[in-house]
Amino acid sequence: MNMMMTPSELQAAATVNDPRWAAVQARDGRFDGQFFYSVKTTGVYCRPSCGARLARPENVAFYENTAEAERAGFRPCKRCKPDQPPRAERQADMIAELCRFIESAEQVPSLDELAQRAGMSHWHLHRMFKEVTGLTPRAYATAHRASRVREALGRSDTVTDAIYDAGYNANSRFYEESDHVLGMTPSAFKAGGADTDIRFAIGQCSLGAILVARSGRGVCAIELGDDPDQLARALQDRFPQARLIGDDPEFDRIVAQVVGLVEAPGHGLDLPLDVRGTAFQQRVWQALRAVPVGETVSYSEIAERIGAPNSHRAVAQACGANTLAIAIPCHRVVRSDGALSGYRWGVERKRALLDREHEAVA
Ligand SMILES: [Zn+2]
Repeated sequence: MNMMMTPSELQAAATVNDPRWAAVQARDGRFDGQFFYSVKTTGVYCRPSCGARLARPENVAFYENTAEAERAGFRPCKRCKPDQPPRAERQADMIAELCRFIESAEQVPSLDELAQRAGMSHWHLHRMFKEVTGLTPRAYATAHRASRVREALGRSDTVTDAIYDAGYNANSRFYEESDHVLGMTPSAFKAGGADTDIRFAIGQCSLGAILVARSGRGVCAIELGDDPDQLARALQDRFPQARLIGDDPEFDRIVAQVVGLVEAPGHGLDLPLDVRGTAFQQRVWQALRAVPVGETVSYSEIAERIGAPNSHRAVAQACGANTLAIAIPCHRVVRSDGALSGYRWGVERKRALLDREHEAVA
């Protein structure tokens, strides 16, 4: 019967009967890299996901690799670039390059500059950058500077040196941003908790590992986590100049009290707190402590309550900067639509705390 078919009909039948044809028809990216196909009429070869118009089956042939397709006389398609790494990989490489560019730039590059460098539109760049890094280019630049400032404050003789080292070219701008990047004023941060004794202990509670630390002024950290060592390291990083003292039997009673607060939130914590933060953060935290067990509020409600109705974003940041879990109940702040939003110690812990509190008052 084959004798009755023209060569082009034969080729069409071969293509249609090949399981790879279905992948081409579906433009199925899962097959990218597994095979390539050529199109006789255009002289190019493509990867299965290519977005070009679907070729007629009589013009199609399949290959295991690009070398085979090129030996058969085909050029790589300009659209799907089958001879280059897959798109996701190329994007990640390009974004990584932009990140390095941002890191080494004296000033935060404008979106214009970045888009030009990447050879794409603002909108496209912004979206792709966020997709790959989770941050906008601007937030990435700010975060990077923040970490440079933290580093430099440990090294430089003065706060001003540190600011210049980190590439902030005007003091005022840095002080404007310092609430966000350091969680306290630069000089307080620079002090690094010098000349203070901080007693701490790490216990276990139903939410995982719990670290409780206390300065002469009161409880200065309650942190939750999975890994006790990491909690201890974070405390050391936060108070690099302080003398950290563990193994104090006296202190175990305080830890027990805090764990009691986690397990039975209705009871409250009758311990002095050493609250370290900017004036704005302290106002937010004060307002949080007034939210009763079993209730939730939104970021904008807290902003209203502290008399700064437009500052819901700064309120959210202050919640994220809270280092006294549960004692300052930032877990009681949710989005206006009731969604949980983030939690410094993981959203699962936030959910568990809220469930527990609802039950406690029910
Ligand atoms: Zn193509």
